[in-house]
Amino acid sequence: MMDCTNRPVLSFGVIADVQYADMEDGYNFSRTRKRYYRNAVNLLREAISCWKNRDSPVKFVLQLGDIIDGFNRSRGSGSDIALQTVMRELDSLQAPVYHNWGNHDFYNFSRQYLMNSVLFSGHLTDCSSVPNCAYYTIHPCPKLMIVSLDCYDVSALGYEESDTKYQQAMEILTQKNPNPEKNDPRGLEGDQRRFVKFNGGVGEDQLDWLEKKLLQAQAEEVNVIVMGHTPVLASSADWLDLLWNYEELLAILGRYKDCVVCYLAGHDHTGGHDTDEHGILHITMPGVIETAPGTNAYSTVDVYRNKLSILGEGTAESFHINLKFTLT
Ligand SMILES: [Zn+2]
Repeated sequence: MMDCTNRPVLSFGVIADVQYADMEDGYNFSRTRKRYYRNAVNLLREAISCWKNRDSPVKFVLQLGDIIDGFNRSRGSGSDIALQTVMRELDSLQAPVYHNWGNHDFYNFSRQYLMNSVLFSGHLTDCSSVPNCAYYTIHPCPKLMIVSLDCYDVSALGYEESDTKYQQAMEILTQKNPNPEKNDPRGLEGDQRRFVKFNGGVGEDQLDWLEKKLLQAQAEEVNVIVMGHTPVLASSADWLDLLWNYEELLAILGRYKDCVVCYLAGHDHTGGHDTDEHGILHITMPGVIETAPGTNAYSTVDVYRNKLSILGEGTAESFHINLKFTLT
């Protein structure tokens, strides 16, 4: 049953933080890591070529957010052209791409624009969503569900200033971050460093929705993979990149540890991984944008009846996880 020589039930791709922009290479904010803006689309193309041409071609791709860089708004070719450039590559896959939104998506577009754009996947075949909400579930085969969270549900990004979610976010930032520039973590210690404007939180309604979805999955013996742009386990990423209410999220996942298989995130370009106290594996995918030409950073997941083989390419690591319930 666990024999890898068996053909997978299905395969899918995972990629994070492409952050493409038609501009010269640069550095991250602290100038410690190089960003290869223009080459990012070449790495995306290479990933797609691999996904299409392998023995078990991918059925779909999970895109973990920040598909284009915020700089596109003021530099390079502009947001729309940059989005068209990456979408041309993704379209060549001729398979669904399920998008998740990150801070850079909101630097380019408003939330309302994103909801009506190609970057909203909740209405695709095999998906189930709630009207006007960015979070949704994917049902690729019986006994397997993927939850795509909206990690910027409560956020200072993407909303009109009159929106209660924006006001809620500004209240949190004002209370937790003493700096006039709310992207600045100076003076914050440990996991308090997460209270910066480029992160966000999951609101009450979404938490309730998630809990209901997991309750049902557990009762029906469905394996669940959860994805979100920001990590939720402190030891799987830099504390600077954590979801504001990561503890609440972790507690919910822990209550449904009998069906939750793993949590996939991006946002922290270094990548990381760890298993939480409930035995759930958290994988933070390395960012394509900070991956040097000649290597890459994506994964291909082979789903077998009893396990997931997550095959990392380049700086992405590989993992093998047992499923909670046998696929039928
Ligand atoms: Zn991000």
